[in-house]
Amino acid sequence: MDSLTDQVFYMNRYPTVGMVITSEGVVAIDGPMKPSDAIEWRDFIASKGPLRYHINTEHHQDHIASNWYLGGGTIISSEVTYSDFLTSLPSVEVAKERMLFYDPECGPLLDGYEIRWPDITFRSRMTLRLGGQTFHLIFSPGHTRGQTVVHAVEARVVFTADNITPGNYPFFHSAAVWEWFESLALLESLDVDWYVPGHGGPCRKDEIPRQRQRMFDVIGEVKKLKDLGLGREEVQERVNYIDRPGLEHPRVLGDRAYLLQKNGVGVVYDALGEHPSGQAG
Ligand SMILES: [Zn+2]
Repeated sequence: MDSLTDQVFYMNRYPTVGMVITSEGVVAIDGPMKPSDAIEWRDFIASKGPLRYHINTEHHQDHIASNWYLGGGTIISSEVTYSDFLTSLPSVEVAKERMLFYDPECGPLLDGYEIRWPDITFRSRMTLRLGGQTFHLIFSPGHTRGQTVVHAVEARVVFTADNITPGNYPFFHSAAVWEWFESLALLESLDVDWYVPGHGGPCRKDEIPRQRQRMFDVIGEVKKLKDLGLGREEVQERVNYIDRPGLEHPRVLGDRAYLLQKNGVGVVYDALGEHPSGQAG
């Protein structure tokens, strides 16, 4: 477990998860994908205080599978994340199958496993006040169309989820491509010391231009092929950025990483046909 201050902790696993301790309990942001990591995280939280709120920043399995393990706490997400919930974890059976794949020893930890849904949802923004601290939950479409970022105001930290992924390739399979750039601008405007990303280690504001560049690199490559007249499927076959040296990609996902990349290239291909400020009229 690592800390940024004596109240802010994070664990850089898959994904990177975070928590803020207040005098009235803990606010947790996401949870680890592997059951054994989730139990380690749950026990660490319990050593610091009762889990009061647990925020799901997106509907992807790696961020929500641990809901059942963390127990306690009221789960909060955006309305869009709630409505997309079953598109990543379609059933308990699939959830268990994937967890066994990622965490082969976890069999005994799967007994009684259930998909736990958010209890409270919000539309554009909500404020939590707990133990003298303020948390702004801001709807920030980007890596997913339902993404939430969590700004812990007094702690001077923002949990960005997968809208920022230092040292990792961006994935677009559920993305709101152009809104993602707007959401980066919002993150850039916050008065914070630290950004805790969805994958990778904590970073500073200067990571945001690098994130933008990583996104432009993928979008530019898709655009180049589309402009040459290649169809959607041809472009999906040709673009393979995750195998290039330099950045990480989620090897823990195995072949699924290629499927997600391919779906993401399709999403970018389609987005190139839209005007960035929306449909005319
Ligand atoms: Zn994700």
